[in-house]
Amino acid sequence: MPDLRFQSQPPSRTDVPRPKRAEGQWSFGYTEPLNKNEQSKKDDDPLNVRDRILHIYSRRGFDSIDPADLRGRFRWMGLYTQRKPGIDGGKTAVLEEEELDDHYFMLRVRSDGQLLTADAVRALGTIGVDFARDTADVTDRENIQYHWIRIEDVPAIWDRLDAAGLSSLEACGDSPRPFLGSPVAGVAKDEIIDGSPALDEIFRRYIGNPQFSNLPRKFKTAVTGHPSHDVSPETNDVAFVGTVHPEHGPGFDLWVGGGLSTNPMLAQKLGVWIPLDQVADAWEGVASIFRDYGYRRLRSRARLKFLVADWGVEKFREVLENEYLGRALVSNPSPDSPVGHRDHVGVHEQKDGRFYVGVAPTAGRVSGTLLVQLADLIEEFGAAGARLTPYQKIVLIGVDGDRVDALLERLDAIGLSARPSQWRRNTMACTGIEFCKLAIVDTKNRARDLVAELERRFPDLDTPISVNVNGCPNACARTQVADIGLKGQLVLDSDGNQVEGFQVHLGGATGLQANFGRKLRAHKVTSTGLDDYVTNVVQAFLVDRAADESFAA
Ligand code: SF4
Repeated sequence: MPDLRFQSQPPSRTDVPRPKRAEGQWSFGYTEPLNKNEQSKKDDDPLNVRDRILHIYSRRGFDSIDPADLRGRFRWMGLYTQRKPGIDGGKTAVLEEEELDDHYFMLRVRSDGQLLTADAVRALGTIGVDFARDTADVTDRENIQYHWIRIEDVPAIWDRLDAAGLSSLEACGDSPRPFLGSPVAGVAKDEIIDGSPALDEIFRRYIGNPQFSNLPRKFKTAVTGHPSHDVSPETNDVAFVGTVHPEHGPGFDLWVGGGLSTNPMLAQKLGVWIPLDQVADAWEGVASIFRDYGYRRLRSRARLKFLVADWGVEKFREVLENEYLGRALVSNPSPDSPVGHRDHVGVHEQKDGRFYVGVAPTAGRVSGTLLVQLADLIEEFGAAGARLTPYQKIVLIGVDGDRVDALLERLDAIGLSARPSQWRRNTMACTGIEFCKLAIVDTKNRARDLVAELERRFPDLDTPISVNVNGCPNACARTQVADIGLKGQLVLDSDGNQVEGFQVHLGGATGLQANFGRKLRAHKVTSTGLDDYVTNVVQAFLVDRAADESFAA
């Protein structure tokens, strides 16, 4: 494949109409960067920053870091500067980025759906304890995210990650971001197909590969062969979703163009059947289309979803087949019907007779200490390991049946319940104002308090109601597809003062009834009024609902 990044004259595509207005697409010859992000990527491959961190910045300290690396290329290594403490949400939009910067970093470690052994979980925990003031969050991209990281400690952290088979490479940036894999791949009794080998192959071939280190923007991947579609495929740029072809058997349908933030769009199915051993090639084709045809002029239009929306899936498939794969894909007539709850919380029998156990930290918050305790339990109970989920949960894999009850008790004792309330189970929160420079409001602590209050007010709630708390419009915790989606913004309180609050989206969903929540002007609430607002909404639903009616219906 040609390296288009540095060609002066990329091949001109004659079979695709040239857009009326330049969108900065490489395939149409727009090689001159049209904004500063594109310029930075062209100036130097972001992957090169790794060496500078190891050999210069970690030795000379924070002040030695080139600003173009600090606020740009560091992201390709999973590093962001974190928000300076004490700056309120009203300043987010008015201060320059350097004024918001603390001298510490958030570090994101990707798990990519892999089974984390006890040693790997322990390594993740001790990194939190030793280098991150005991922080560690489970994110909804199956990452572990740390805070308070010093640049001086990054080489030692990378050594430990390396030894544990883990990495922060391309955990952020305009790159193939951390993959979502089914947390129960290879073990679930009802699995259609195990996608793990394909994820491993994609990682091995393309992560850290300069062919894909300069994408127009982030590129999110999900692979699952579980019938519940447990990787939120609707909200990923590319997703491979287990399906059974009437003639060819188990394989994957290919979905493209999902993404939330502003202008949210659900991924669309190409209606094809891809066998396991061809998933990595298909991934390369889709990522290449994004690299070559993706819009680069405006950051706000640079996600794959805009290209898919403009082209439509028929044309996308045609370009994929003709220009990138060189062959026709097999059409798949099988309907798509996700079944079951996606978070895997609770105790479930595996296909080998052992059990997997899903536990729910509150809004994804754990700690280094807690991960070390979890590693001890994995070892003591002889479990195979743990996986992280896109719902900020942890699933322990391979527990013997006669040890499950004792394990549940021990998990409860460290605050990781496999039998959580509906509220603890179904509430997620993004990073928020505690550490995120884009945040307008607090999220993690607000979600924790909301869960505690709702557990008190509705202790016997018998139906799942998902609450996704986000600190700004970027929707990292998937605002638009929750039953109650909360987008952080400043709102007016009853005295007319601007205070932290949320725009509410009601009735969003993924799965069979996938759609975005309704956003009404009147659906705004202050952060302090959130408990009562949710209480009123839930009470109204419980009074009016028909038998078996879900919140989203
Ligand atoms: Fe930060 Fe906004 Fe994403 Fe939350 S939604 S993590 S506040 S960018």
